[in-house]
Amino acid sequence: MKEPRVRIVYAHWIFRLPWMRPYRGICVGRRILFRDPEGRVPGELLAHEMIHQDQITRHGVLPFYLAYVRDYLINLARYRNHDRAYRNIPFEREAFAANRPARTRGNRPRRRNKA
Ligand SMILES: [Zn+2]
Repeated sequence: MKEPRVRIVYAHWIFRLPWMRPYRGICVGRRILFRDPEGRVPGELLAHEMIHQDQITRHGVLPFYLAYVRDYLINLARYRNHDRAYRNIPFEREAFAANRPARTRGNRPRRRNKA
């Protein structure tokens, strides 16, 4: 299969929106938007967003977003907590797990970034 073309945009205005402030990166279809300028985006954040691109390749753009929102809402009903609902979306779990060394899993002292 042909590799999809992914466009990366740095220092995107969308992160100035109040509800986007906790986030540092987001996939919008085949675009990856980052809050920070080029050179200040950590490799692990880029890797996280590239895993979402792989998920979009596997599922298709629309099915990916429909499943993402569905799983978030199911989690929100279950946990009644946005952050927990978000982190337990299976697509997010896969993306976070791929970036986390096994020895520090579940025991990370520094604040984790949302993406
Ligand atoms: Zn993510």
